[in-house]
Amino acid sequence: EEWCLLQPKIELHAHLNGSVRDSTLLELARNLAEKGVLVFADVEHVILKDDRSLVECFKLFDLIHVLTTDHATVTRITKEVVEDFASENVVYVELRTTPKKNAAIGMTKRSYMEAVINGLRSVEAVDVDFIPSKMGQKNSTMNLSTDDMCNGTARKKIYVRLLLSIDRRETTAAAMETVQLALEMRDVGVVGIDLSGNPIIGEWVTFLPALKYAKEQGLLVTLHCGEVPDRKEEVNAMLDFLPQRIGHACFIHGEEWIKLKSSKIPVEICLTSNIRTDRFPSIEYHHFVDLYKSKHPVVLCTDDVGMFSTSLSKEYNLAASAFGLGKEEMFQLARDATEFVFADDDVKKNLREIFDSAEKKFM
Ligand code: 5GP
Repeated sequence: EEWCLLQPKIELHAHLNGSVRDSTLLELARNLAEKGVLVFADVEHVILKDDRSLVECFKLFDLIHVLTTDHATVTRITKEVVEDFASENVVYVELRTTPKKNAAIGMTKRSYMEAVINGLRSVEAVDVDFIPSKMGQKNSTMNLSTDDMCNGTARKKIYVRLLLSIDRRETTAAAMETVQLALEMRDVGVVGIDLSGNPIIGEWVTFLPALKYAKEQGLLVTLHCGEVPDRKEEVNAMLDFLPQRIGHACFIHGEEWIKLKSSKIPVEICLTSNIRTDRFPSIEYHHFVDLYKSKHPVVLCTDDVGMFSTSLSKEYNLAASAFGLGKEEMFQLARDATEFVFADDDVKKNLREIFDSAEKKFM
């Protein structure tokens, strides 16, 4: 449906390295093949493969990291990812990424993040707002006029905020380093912390000290929660932590499901990602239905547009067709996400205005 593309949308669960264009990955693979670092034919089919298990996904992430993790490439993919979201009328994206260290190329977690910031600065196709305005001080570099947003002719504008991800492979000290970095980078748009990475690796107690510290210091936290079956204890501990949002929530049952419902913690829903990695026999069994019907806060997200060959518009289309939701309901779903963003109240206010003016145009 065209309206899924045209209406303004908010993306709250997108991993930078999962959102790289296939064409870029192939180009990077070709370059490395020329240097003899890898054999192109070996990686081409991995990149272009459509259906993959969760295990295969994490293997592909390791390959993607080989292809992308130098400063210039991190800058490039950040720029492209933001441009791609803006081109489908995403007006606010919270991009998450795992700061990476690589002594061989002089990369620290900080220099990795600086490369990301350079990517945001180098976007030319659209206007990017990623520097939070200081208390009471209007952001002079860019004032997003609501009339300009989602106007087919005007230049597109997008808010970008960043979440730093802790990878479940990391130690407590490494997780703490990421949180410290996030605190130091608040003035360039870092608003929170994410816990992600292979869900069958690592223990909650390893990350808890860093997550607690993040919370104490005023960073907002989202957790990948209930991604794999039989993690009752971890799910419980995660819900007790009271994160500001959780991602996926595919395998939460019984008491924990009740706890989630009464907590009203917003859930980031990634339909295509969940279906592609076989979390459900088919989409009608997806917990979106239960959450949506009971008016639990939910937001449709992409997870990894590159990895799962999707886009936020496609996710909206999929939800509309699979769950029989109409144009008004889908517009409202997009608008509701305004209340779950980690950016400050000024941004929220602006987003509300964007949806109000879009409502007149689209409804
Ligand atoms: P990056 O943080 O390197 O920019 O983005 C890729 C990383 O995001 C992956 O290596 C993984 O740690 C995390 N990630 C991406 N998609 C998923 C997912 O569906 N589940 C989990 N748990 N982690 C993911």
